Amino acid sequence: KEPTLGNPQNTIAVLKKYGFVFQKKYGQNFLIDPHVLDKIIRAAKITKDDFVLEIGPGIGTMTQYLACAARKVAAIEIDKALIPILKDTLNGYDNIKIINGDVLKTDIAELAKKENAGEPIKVVANLPYYITTPIIMGLFENHVPLKSLTVMVQKEVAQRMQAGPGTKDYGALSLAVQYYAKPYLAANVPPNCFMPRPKVGSAVIRLERYTEPPVKVKNEKLLFQIIRASFNQRRKTLVNGLKNCTELTILREEAEQALLELGIDSNVRGEALTLEQFAALADRLGE
Ligand code: SAM
Repeated sequence: KEPTLGNPQNTIAVLKKYGFVFQKKYGQNFLIDPHVLDKIIRAAKITKDDFVLEIGPGIGTMTQYLACAARKVAAIEIDKALIPILKDTLNGYDNIKIINGDVLKTDIAELAKKENAGEPIKVVANLPYYITTPIIMGLFENHVPLKSLTVMVQKEVAQRMQAGPGTKDYGALSLAVQYYAKPYLAANVPPNCFMPRPKVGSAVIRLERYTEPPVKVKNEKLLFQIIRASFNQRRKTLVNGLKNCTELTILREEAEQALLELGIDSNVRGEALTLEQFAALADRLGE
């Protein structure tokens, strides 16, 4: 079955037919450009063996494209008003499961177990921008079996995910994402590819899940606490960030001593440290 959605005319026709009203609180910006849709499917490298999870199918535009490329697609949509629309636009596809629910409250690991025998799944989504980070970090931290995530996000967020040490975009999100996955920028997407148009530019980024994290650390939780504390106060030194963090109980002297042992200047700022250095610091401070 060939996709019918993905252009302005057909999208408007579906919205009119159902008298659909956009809900701002759900971050609804629907794709209306077939080239962008093709690009996302290609970037995700979907094959007929794949089970794909789509987060927020909207009126089912990308879902049609995914169903053509994958073995099976599960699509989780929070907005009840979109469910009858999805049943209509996805009618005739026999490999799609529509789930009405909040992705943040759905047990995705369980879904992967049931639908894909616990084998790694691919996630593809034009994400609702108000919850980009909790969705992505939730998938990683809850140990959902993942092959890759190919997602449309705000352009600035894509830049932060990809950024390396010493750059202005480098921060806690860069380190968290890069601990779990290797990021590849697939496309920049301007606002006119969506209806309604978002106020910001967008980008498609593919996060290829590592089977083994690129660094070894004894206490993962402590690593992320240290990373967050280091970037909490952007213009302060790393030592001050750690000392002022209430979640941790690290004294100035301890932090300075640990940095000294690692051969790092005690006036260093968080944005200068690599993931490897943060891991080494976490191992020292955890002793
Ligand atoms: N995939 C469609 C497209 O590209 O045209 C729509 C993308 S739109 C940016 C985001 C979608 O996510 C909307 O349909 C919205 O209702 C849905 N959504 C928002 N919050 C959600 C949540 N917590 N769980 C599941 N879906 C959600």
